[in-house]
Amino acid sequence: MSNLELRPAEVVCDSSGRAASPAVEVLTPRVVPLGGTRAMRVSRTLPQRGRSLIGPWCFIDHYGPERVAMGVPAHPHTGLQTISWLFSGQIEHRDSAGHHALIRPGELNLMTAGRGISHAEVSTSDTTVLHGAQLWVALPSAERFADPAFEQYVPDIVRQAGFDARVFLGTLLGSTSPAAAHSPLVGAEITIEPGHTAHIPVDAAFEHGVLVDTGAVTVDGTDVTRGSLGHVATGRDVIELRAGDAGTARVLMVGGRPLGERILMWWNFVARTHDEIVRYRADWQAEIGAGSRAQGRFGLPSGAAEAPLPAPVMPNVRLKPRE
Ligand code: MN
Repeated sequence: MSNLELRPAEVVCDSSGRAASPAVEVLTPRVVPLGGTRAMRVSRTLPQRGRSLIGPWCFIDHYGPERVAMGVPAHPHTGLQTISWLFSGQIEHRDSAGHHALIRPGELNLMTAGRGISHAEVSTSDTTVLHGAQLWVALPSAERFADPAFEQYVPDIVRQAGFDARVFLGTLLGSTSPAAAHSPLVGAEITIEPGHTAHIPVDAAFEHGVLVDTGAVTVDGTDVTRGSLGHVATGRDVIELRAGDAGTARVLMVGGRPLGERILMWWNFVARTHDEIVRYRADWQAEIGAGSRAQGRFGLPSGAAEAPLPAPVMPNVRLKPRE
């Protein structure tokens, strides 16, 4: 997925110096239209004013279920990993590192951008309803220029009394994902039967986010409505998820050790400085100008149906670090 906002703002994401709070903070989504030829809308809960990181997680888009097609032309990424997680529908992934894959429900698709990659994402012709999420993880400084990579993993279902879980990144409930994590983190889908309470043992050094996909859910006693994200600060070793009586609840839980770094996000890039962003944008524009002869930081996926996505215009202001 691409951030298709026409005028994306630069966002400084800083996890340092934030006081831990015992209460669950509820982050409500904003609806962001994905432009281009397809009229798809997504619900974005990260980044937002007041909170831009949960552990290393820096971007959470949630969409559907909706009778809609996805068609995101080739676009670049740096300094992050993208996680595609579907509940229904199928998406075809092509990237400039040579990976061509089908993204299916219940399967982790993890793309590591590292120093630079580009990819295109198109829902398959037999997909009628799309429902899923795209999540981004910021790479720590020591790993952010890593080689681009793409991995798929189908987690086993962990069955517990009243709930089950699929752990797609990190370790939770005794299930460990083999997918590459570059800082301590976790990601899982958890489904809770109506009226049941799930007690999830977690790493107390992690902060967590609980994105409610379906149903009525309370997180440690705080109501989190569908589409919203409940933030649980570090210092907890159990998170309590309760499903309302009316129906099954489904959430995505993400977490990780606070990154402890100031990162800079603009469009589809994660960087550390304004000048890096300027260079990434210029490199991408030069590469798409060169077309199939493109050689450089990103490259282009082969077999993509549509022309690559040009970068938006950068804001006129030079970003000043937040103190
Ligand atoms: Mn993308």
